[in-house]
Amino acid sequence: MDQDRDEYDTVVIGGGSGSQVATAAADRGLEAAVIEPGPLGGACITRGCVPSKALLHRADLADEVRRAGEFGVAADLKDVAYGEITDAIHDTVYEKAARQDRSLEENENVALYRGEGHFVDERTIAVEPTGDSGEGSEITGDAIILAVGSRPMVPPIDGLEDVDFRTSDDALYLEERPNELAIVGGGYIGAELGYFFGAVGTDVSMIGRSEQLIPGEDDDASAVVTDSLADYCELYTGYEAAEVSQNGDGGVTITAEPSDDDSGNGSDGDAVEIEADDLLLATGRRPNTDTLALEETDVETDDKGYVETDARLETTAEGIWALGDIVGEQPFKHAADYEAEIVMANVLDGAGREVDYGAMPHAIFTSPQVASVGRTESKLEDEGRDYEATTVPFDAAPLGLILGADDGFVKVLAAPDGEILGCHVVGPQASTLIQEVVVAMDRGDGTVDDVAEPVHVHPALSEAIYTAFDDLSSSEFSTAPDWRDVAPSGRGSGEE
Ligand SMILES: Cc1cc2nc3c(=O)[nH]c(=O)nc-3n(C[C@H](O)[C@H](O)[C@H](O)COP(=O)(O)OP(=O)(O)OC[C@H]3O[C@@H](n4cnc5c(N)ncnc54)[C@H](O)[C@@H]3O)c2cc1C
Repeated sequence: MDQDRDEYDTVVIGGGSGSQVATAAADRGLEAAVIEPGPLGGACITRGCVPSKALLHRADLADEVRRAGEFGVAADLKDVAYGEITDAIHDTVYEKAARQDRSLEENENVALYRGEGHFVDERTIAVEPTGDSGEGSEITGDAIILAVGSRPMVPPIDGLEDVDFRTSDDALYLEERPNELAIVGGGYIGAELGYFFGAVGTDVSMIGRSEQLIPGEDDDASAVVTDSLADYCELYTGYEAAEVSQNGDGGVTITAEPSDDDSGNGSDGDAVEIEADDLLLATGRRPNTDTLALEETDVETDDKGYVETDARLETTAEGIWALGDIVGEQPFKHAADYEAEIVMANVLDGAGREVDYGAMPHAIFTSPQVASVGRTESKLEDEGRDYEATTVPFDAAPLGLILGADDGFVKVLAAPDGEILGCHVVGPQASTLIQEVVVAMDRGDGTVDDVAEPVHVHPALSEAIYTAFDDLSSSEFSTAPDWRDVAPSGRGSGEE
């Protein structure tokens, strides 16, 4: 591909999920360009989903070893080779990113511009090259796709400018395990990393504004995860970090005050002081749209910087489209990929496809895992909707009982006519188990019978889903398992 060429059919700014639109255009024989300053694959591959889940896998292993005695299997956790783990994860994900680089570079219909892009007029993008990757370029495209993702938000905490801190960008590949870590933020990234560091032996203190961790989830799911994480971390829920300072030992002191969060759920206790070797901020993410000089265009953003689009994901400027975290709807990789598909259909085929997030799931890989699709119970209450609810514990399914998943559950929320309105799963493999509910809901009018009627493998964990949906199903007869009153005393030697 001729790198001097500056006019393309499709230009994508951001090499995460957006780059797939460029390759789809190239597959059609169109000329496409991708602008990306860093490794291809975006946050997900090198700074987000994959490395964090690889770390969490090690946390799960350590946890299994610790719990083995409960099941009569004597085991000791001797060591966690921390640096080796992070090195191995780093090498794997960067190899994947390099492979994506090579594949794009070998695609003769796609030009990869190494640098950061910003608009200089309505349809012209200047690329500032990274490092020594050549001279700057100006390029334009018939269709321009904005896909620049998000970055960690740094909150205004007194003293922060004088203190060393980490974000998820630089906490995933530490050479050494911190002995003490303070995490500010009780959302899903904070909760996952709190569980990870706690499980591998770090003393973690976690400060979250709401009374519960992961406060956006269904209340019962948040409550279980909060209880569970209290075994891995010292929790300061209902607090917010007000001030930080570097202490004499090279560590940090955080003053946390009772929070004043919008839900009125803050703590009414006294301020506390927390000491730690390291500070990790996990206080949300902000869109990278401020890097794009959008003021040169007709693209509008809201007051937080998220791009305004219509349901087809076209921005307020004709021919400029947006997808992924900058759209601000569902900040997940699978959502960004779904949006990339919508943009491909609309840009390449003029299909007029509209986004529908009604069956968009997500999962949190704490212990236990949480997975969710559709509305939460409090959302239905706020909307004043009629609904039926059932909550079935995981140990209703024999495998749930065998695994000792005592705190897990499946909650189903359905309209009186049986339409599934939401489902919240807490327990082992929740992230996988939710999928059959997603398939049912994706049809638009999926009902509880759509999940309850198909035969479920026995004795698999999916029987927990089966029993919960069977509870609300219209069938007069039931063969769904229910082991919930069986005492789990016969697991093993009882050694803990
Ligand atoms: C710690 C962590 C864990 C996560 N875990 C999960 C998970 O388990 N499951 C899940 O679904 N999601 C998870 N996510 C979220 C997921 O990573 C994002 O939702 C997803 O990567 C968004 O894709 P995107 O294409 O919008 O943005 P990105 O993947 O961030 O890609 C945007 C790209 O644009 C580039 N860019 C920025 N500015 C410019 C510019 N001006 N010019 C050119 N390029 C630019 C960036 O370098 C980046 O590579 C996690 C995120 C984090 C941080």
